[in-house]
Amino acid sequence: DPVLLWLREDLRFDDNPAMRAAAATGQPVACVFVLDDDTPGEMKMGGAQRWWLHHSLTAFSEDLKTREGALILRRGDARHIIPQLAEELGASDVFWNRRYMRWQTEADSDIKKELKDAGRGAESFNGRLLYEPWEIETKSGDPYRVFTPFWKNLQAKGEVREALPRVDKLTAPSSLPSSDRLEDWDLLPTRPDWATGFAPVWSPGEKGARARLREWLKNEAARYKDTRNRPDLDETSRLSPHLHFGEISPVTIWHDVQAGIKAGDIPADQGHTFLSEVAWREFSYHLLYYQPQMTEEPLQEKFADFEWDTDETALTAWQKGLTGYPIVDAGMRQLWQTGWMHNRVRMIVASFLIKDLLIHWREGMAWFWDTLVDADQANNTASWQWVAGCGADAAPYFRIFNPTTQGEKFDPDGDYIRKFVPELSRLPAKYIHDPSNAPKDVLKEAGIRLGETYPAPIVDHKKAREDALSRYQSIK
Ligand code: FAD
Repeated sequence: DPVLLWLREDLRFDDNPAMRAAAATGQPVACVFVLDDDTPGEMKMGGAQRWWLHHSLTAFSEDLKTREGALILRRGDARHIIPQLAEELGASDVFWNRRYMRWQTEADSDIKKELKDAGRGAESFNGRLLYEPWEIETKSGDPYRVFTPFWKNLQAKGEVREALPRVDKLTAPSSLPSSDRLEDWDLLPTRPDWATGFAPVWSPGEKGARARLREWLKNEAARYKDTRNRPDLDETSRLSPHLHFGEISPVTIWHDVQAGIKAGDIPADQGHTFLSEVAWREFSYHLLYYQPQMTEEPLQEKFADFEWDTDETALTAWQKGLTGYPIVDAGMRQLWQTGWMHNRVRMIVASFLIKDLLIHWREGMAWFWDTLVDADQANNTASWQWVAGCGADAAPYFRIFNPTTQGEKFDPDGDYIRKFVPELSRLPAKYIHDPSNAPKDVLKEAGIRLGETYPAPIVDHKKAREDALSRYQSIK
């Protein structure tokens, strides 16, 4: 009898525990990917992720063919599809790697039960995290809410497990159940095609992920701690979408970076800072696993009474990168054009939406969900709540970013602005973060008419800051 391998966010052959287990049975293996827009509700995949998924599935199924395998595509509610497909196939067992969001764990345990009731084996594995959320706990056996002790505990656990060898052969059964055609899933945008800026920047798929890691280890990893906050230098790993889709595992990344440190290619402090960022991802999963309500509600309850504004005009200006604050606008345009934004700038634009515009963090989270190729429910939710000051271990609410000084500090020559806000490109560095305070002749020289070629600031930061603080006083 064949076995069924249900692929989800683990589109890779290296270090894939469920795939190893399926291959180890020695039975024929049918692979399936289900596009499920029913189960997740509001968390169904956003537009930018769909673009990525299309290309990632294309790459995966090519790689699978070279291993004698075949990929079945099905669309709909996984709760029906998986048991039904197991039946069609006469599968003895079904294997998959775990996912951790509440809607996912609930569906998976229902499916597991149904498969077992039908007399099949159903086995799940950890292919997504260094450690399962429940493998890291406080001394009293509780989940963590603060990062530093979580990180200490993670490091104290000893060696992260070894990465599993690549699967070279995954022979498909001789007769296969029907499959959808990927083209019919309409994952790519048509009119307008907003993703034209994606392809030059990204190579979805496992090979692209491996190449990205290799390049980054060779060229930039050794400076990570020093350059990670500089969007103009753009030297972070950009592994986030590959990690989200499981084209590479955190275990592989962990060991490759450790090896670089051991070999003396990466100074220990630089490497450890990077590994601690990978651990923030683990922490986000840990948080969301234990506090699934975080997608909807502030983790710190007092924030439930916070009074938010609804301002469609301001929200649209933020989404389009037309706020009149250059660093915010550059970030929002980088996001729209490339499906990704530098972490420092994510913090700045999020702070601007929440504290300068007083718009609910959930609005920002939803926009990111639709536009990020690395949109990830755990990281996105935990990060938005962190910036809003209502999450775990969050920056205190009253610490409000000044978008102008943030820009000056982290994009000192204005190169990042020049790249994404070309209408400001002729402004000297001295004024590029604050065009509304540039002398008239300087603006004229640079070809800028504020309010026409580039917007005047939509809010006065100083005043907005005071408003935010007084709203905060009222919930404190
Ligand atoms: P690197 O700096 O090279 O880091 C390596 C990896 O570590 C990343 O790929 C990522 O998996 C993990 N990581 C790094 N920083 C963080 C962090 N602060 N929190 C959790 N994990 C981290 N990340 C997502 O993957 N998906 C999201 O939807 C997402 N939404 C965010 C929303 C906001 C408001 C903010 C402030 C941050 C968000 N992040 C999100 C975290 C972070 O910005 C990205 O992971 C990072 O910018 C990805 O770029 P990189 O791969 O070059 O990161």
